[in-house]
Amino acid sequence: MARSVLKVNRKLAIDGGTPVRSTLLPYGKQSISQEDIQAVTKVLESAWLTTGPAVAHFERSLEKKTGAKHVATVSNGTAALHAALYAVGIGPGDEVLVPTMTFAASANAVRYLGAVPKLTDVDPTTLLITAEEISKNISSRTKAVICVDYAGQPCDYDPIITLAKKHNLKVIVDACHSLGGSYKGRRVGTIGDLSTFSFHPVKHITTGEGGAVSTDHPNLNKKILTFRNHGISTDHRQREEAGTFFYSVDEPGYNYRLSDIQCALGDSQLKHLDEWIKKRQSIAFRYDKEFSSRPWFSPLRTSQAVSHAYHLYVIQLNLDRLGADRAWVFSALRAEGIGVNVHYIPVHLHPFYRELGYKKGQLPNAEAAYERILTLPLFPTMSESDVSSVIEAVERVLSSVLK
Ligand SMILES: *Cc1c(COP(=O)(O)O)cnc(C)c1O
Repeated sequence: MARSVLKVNRKLAIDGGTPVRSTLLPYGKQSISQEDIQAVTKVLESAWLTTGPAVAHFERSLEKKTGAKHVATVSNGTAALHAALYAVGIGPGDEVLVPTMTFAASANAVRYLGAVPKLTDVDPTTLLITAEEISKNISSRTKAVICVDYAGQPCDYDPIITLAKKHNLKVIVDACHSLGGSYKGRRVGTIGDLSTFSFHPVKHITTGEGGAVSTDHPNLNKKILTFRNHGISTDHRQREEAGTFFYSVDEPGYNYRLSDIQCALGDSQLKHLDEWIKKRQSIAFRYDKEFSSRPWFSPLRTSQAVSHAYHLYVIQLNLDRLGADRAWVFSALRAEGIGVNVHYIPVHLHPFYRELGYKKGQLPNAEAAYERILTLPLFPTMSESDVSSVIEAVERVLSSVLK
């Protein structure tokens, strides 16, 4: 769609003008310090590259940070979801409710176990799954719900957990966006039966690739420890220390272990989590403030009951006020050097899920949101002038198409 309204004072970069930035500002980016590098080097010079002391150390640090009784690290956030679903006994014939506004991994993991991901709609103002959506989709085969804390905002868990108890559903929190957040004073990682985290470089802390599952239930944690290690209930180091070769495989697990090299990096990164979240929140508040009086878009609604971890800053364009569509706004901002992105293409619109029978029109809130959403750059090492450049580019691009 072309722009139908033109009020440009200055030529936009997409029309051949000079861009606001000369280099592209990504939407997310890791921060690596000298201490991080030293922590990794130390492991490389030690006797254990994997299944050694750094793994347990990082797990204990995550327990302390989240307040969860048990944390098990795994090789990535998707493995964390797979392990969590396995631990609560999901298998063929079961249904697991998953909001369609998420990264496809949240639904794919359900398929790994031969179960059916039942995709649900989301609240149009927060893009979170709600008790109401869950209630509409429960059947006699529903065994669990995966609640995604989209963008870093925890879902409204009190009604969700009450409903889940009533229907005997397990609650798995996909907390890949919300490490360091909280709901009514309860820290993310302690809500629901299990919570899953990702340490991909765009997330709050990174191990390159990595993930973790937290739970307060020792039996679920034990299942995950076995599942991530080929189905063997003791690890190599435990056998070494006990002076035994013996182990037994009770079922075929996976090799989903995180190495000591990665865990040392994660442990070092975790020290910065609080400071980084504060920085993310302060950038988000500046965006909120700058944009609040503008007619172009609305930020997502945030609840007073949560501390938002701001993995993403997502806006919803007010398309009826703009003479351009999202695709054009995306390209125009990219041309200005602003690395906007779209989170997410609703899962049910992907070819694999369409083959399972999902159709366009079925989950209207998520589909309408998908036409309007854009993720603006947000990461802790953004400078004041980086933030200003985003604001300037957004003003320039959107004011040129305002009706
Ligand atoms: C990142 C992410 C995952 C998957 O994590 P990986 O570490 O990339 O496997 C799952 N769910 C959500 C919501 C995510 O953002």
